[in-house]
Amino acid sequence: MSHVITEKCLGEQYAACVDVCPVECIHPVDYQGKQFMAIDPDVCIDCGVCLPECPIGAIVGSVDEDPAYAKINKELTPQAKDNEAKNGKVPPRPPNDPPRRPENKLVK
Ligand code: SF4
Ligand code: SF4
Repeated sequence: MSHVITEKCLGEQYAACVDVCPVECIHPVDYQGKQFMAIDPDVCIDCGVCLPECPIGAIVGSVDEDPAYAKINKELTPQAKDNEAKNGKVPPRPPNDPPRRPENKLVK
């Protein structure tokens, strides 16, 4: 089991969740042409720290709460980890900042 990032995150990549994850299992990825974050279900320890950090409530605490997006997080994880290895982590930004494509503006 793991936490899951849901559809609400699409295009709203504030990255506040990334900063607090103690095991660094949240990774940036494009999905359906929009910015998204995927939680690696094999690494997530279900600590719950990320959940209250998301300003739009895009994270759920179990696979059962959104099985479809649980599958999507799992499937996107390899690609997301590759992106991060190439481009570095996405820095946090406040909600409603102009959209920022991860491939353009990542800082290490
Ligand atoms: S804080 Fe919420 S909206 Fe931002 S990247 Fe994480 S899950 Fe997505
Ligand atoms: S529940 Fe904990 S380990 Fe899992 S993604 Fe959130 S902060 Fe990371």
